[in-house]
Amino acid sequence: MNIIPRIHFAHLPTAIETMPRLEEALHGPHLLVKRDDQTGLAFGGNKTRKLEFLVAEAQAGAADTLITAGALQSNHCRQTAAAAAKFGLGCTLVLVGEPPAQASANLLLDQQFGAKIIWVEKSLRDMALKQAFEQAIAQGHRPYLVPYGGSNPTGALGYAFAMQEFVGQGIKADWIVFASSSGGTQAGLVLGAAVFGYTGKVLGISVDEPQAVLQERVAKLASETSERLGAHLNFKQEEVLVNADYSAPGYGVLTGAEREAIQLFAKYEGLLLDPVYTGRAAAGLIDLIRKGFFKPDETILFWHTGGQPALFAEQYQSKLV
Ligand SMILES: *Cc1c(COP(=O)(O)O)cnc(C)c1O
Repeated sequence: MNIIPRIHFAHLPTAIETMPRLEEALHGPHLLVKRDDQTGLAFGGNKTRKLEFLVAEAQAGAADTLITAGALQSNHCRQTAAAAAKFGLGCTLVLVGEPPAQASANLLLDQQFGAKIIWVEKSLRDMALKQAFEQAIAQGHRPYLVPYGGSNPTGALGYAFAMQEFVGQGIKADWIVFASSSGGTQAGLVLGAAVFGYTGKVLGISVDEPQAVLQERVAKLASETSERLGAHLNFKQEEVLVNADYSAPGYGVLTGAEREAIQLFAKYEGLLLDPVYTGRAAAGLIDLIRKGFFKPDETILFWHTGGQPALFAEQYQSKLV
């Protein structure tokens, strides 16, 4: 295996818990949850695992500033800003939207970490990101571009090794189900399954992308990431399991399905989901259980990817109850 720069700061391994009360309430298969909402960095979440590799790469290249982009309530931007603060790096965030009158939730936290924020409309995001990068150089900085969602081969390594961690925990699951969007989490898990010997199914619930788009993105990214492990694997689109049946309302739109999922996890397990990602993925999981998609004797592991600060975002306050 190649030598891969990594800084260990996540709280790992994350715990795996049973969900007996939810299981009973849904008359479902055996349910487990892996707590990547508890990775330790600034309320945690899946981006922390990616950042162990991304920040290490930035530091190896002597970067002094992290630059990335995301939505107004981006968990990725919040964790990137926190990592920058922790390692004494500057941070510029290109956020899509207009600055709200009052910052809440993830945006409020971005500000606490001292991130510089640039507001743009969606169509100008990539250009603004490039401009921010060039401007940093012009000002004598050494910027490092963290990709959207942390999803490039460097970031995806975080989830290849997360799968190694899971296999090492010695707990069996027939299915791993989770929220999938920019694809780095799923690419890492798919690659890690092949390399570290997980033989169950890795099912991404698409948050905002059509099935074929996400399958193709994940297959490509998993294949590219395999090179980093010296593995040269070639994943095909049709090998990647994506269910996009729950993505229709669009990114960040909280409907009755997400609200019910959030309430069921809270009421039966004292577990918090988030309105954008895990709420939608859990809504999909619950629907699949109700439809009898899983066999009664199967074990389903819901891989919790975090995101709970968004529960406190202003735009969701009236929609959660
Ligand atoms: C970013 C994010 C995801 C999606 O992960 P990808 O690697 O972008 O597919 C899922 N859940 C939460 C809470 C996230 O912040």
